[in-house]
Amino acid sequence: MEKLLQVEKLETEFTKDKQKIKILHGVTFSIKKGEVLGLVGESGSGKSITSLSIMKLFKGTSGEISAGKIQFRDQELTTKSESDMRKIRGKQIAMIFQEPMTSLNPVMKIGEQLMEPIRLHLGLTDKQARQHAISILKKVGIPRADEILHEFPHQLSGGMRQRIMIAMAISCNPQLLIADEPTTALDVTIQAQILDLIKKLQKTEDMSVLLITHDLGVVAEMCDRVVVMYAGRVVEEADVFELFESPKHPYTKGLINSVPKLGQQKDRLDSIKGNVPDPSNLPKGCKFAPRCIEALPICFQEEPAEIIFENGRSCSCWLYEQERGGIHV
Ligand code: SF4
Repeated sequence: MEKLLQVEKLETEFTKDKQKIKILHGVTFSIKKGEVLGLVGESGSGKSITSLSIMKLFKGTSGEISAGKIQFRDQELTTKSESDMRKIRGKQIAMIFQEPMTSLNPVMKIGEQLMEPIRLHLGLTDKQARQHAISILKKVGIPRADEILHEFPHQLSGGMRQRIMIAMAISCNPQLLIADEPTTALDVTIQAQILDLIKKLQKTEDMSVLLITHDLGVVAEMCDRVVVMYAGRVVEEADVFELFESPKHPYTKGLINSVPKLGQQKDRLDSIKGNVPDPSNLPKGCKFAPRCIEALPICFQEEPAEIIFENGRSCSCWLYEQERGGIHV
C-alpha cells in the first residue's frame, strides 16, 4: 500500500519561562493509503502533540517543530507557511477533537459553519454549498438535515454535535482524518455509533485515519496498525492483531493488562504503577524504567534504540537487544 503520511524523527518543543522543553523526541511512523493507524498511550505520552504538529496547529502556544520531517503525499509540511497550511487543513487533512464545542462556534448557525469551508476549499456557490452540506449531514446520519442548518450547536445533543464535527471534517473529502479521542466525552452507546460512522466513512470515502486514543478497546475495534507512545517517543509499533496477541514492550503489556477482560476473576485490575514523567525532568536511560517491572540495570543508564523485527514490527527495549542483527547472548 502506498504511503500517505510519513513522520520522520519529529521533534517538537515548547518554551516555558524562557526554557525549551522538548515534548516529542524523534517520533517516526507512517500511514498508508486507506489505513487506520492507532496512536496510543496514557495522557502526557505525546499523542496529541504529534497530531497538532502534523497540522502545525500551534497558534496561541509556544510550540514549534525543532527537527524532523512530515511528508504528506508529495508535500513537506514542516517547511510550509501558515497560509499554505490553511489550504491543506480541512481540505486534505481534517481533524476531529474530543469535545465538539472546541471546534464549533457557539454563536454561528450549523449551516454557516458547515458551508464556509465547502465554499472556500471546493469553490462552490452558496446554493451548491448548501446542497453539499445537506448531503454530508445525511451521510453522517443526521435526520432533518435542512432544518439543522438553521440551528445553533447548543440546541443539539453531544452525539449530534460530534456527528456535525465529523460532517465538517469530511465535507471537503480529506485524504487523512485525524481523530483525537473522538468518543471519549460520549455515552457508551453513542460512542459505538460514532466509531461505526468513522469506520464506515473511512471505507466509503477511502480515507486514511490517524486515531488517537488511550482506549485499547477502541483500538482493537478500529485499527489496522498501532503505534504506542511513551514520554514523547514511539516505543512499539505492530499490526493490531500481533500487538494484542504478543505485545513486546513492557509498557504495551501494562496497557493491555490494565484493560478489563470478560470473565476475569480478579478483584482488581493490573495497573501500571507510577505516572508518565514530567517532560522537563525525564529520567536517565529508558524513560519507562522507573515504572517497568522487567527493568535491567542498563535500563537506568542508557536509552534503548529501536529494534526492527523481521515482520516489520518494532520495539525500543533492552529486553530484545539480543535479537538485533541476529546476535544471541
Ligand atoms: S528498556 Fe528496560 S526499563 Fe525500558 S521498557 Fe525495556 S525492560 Fe523496561
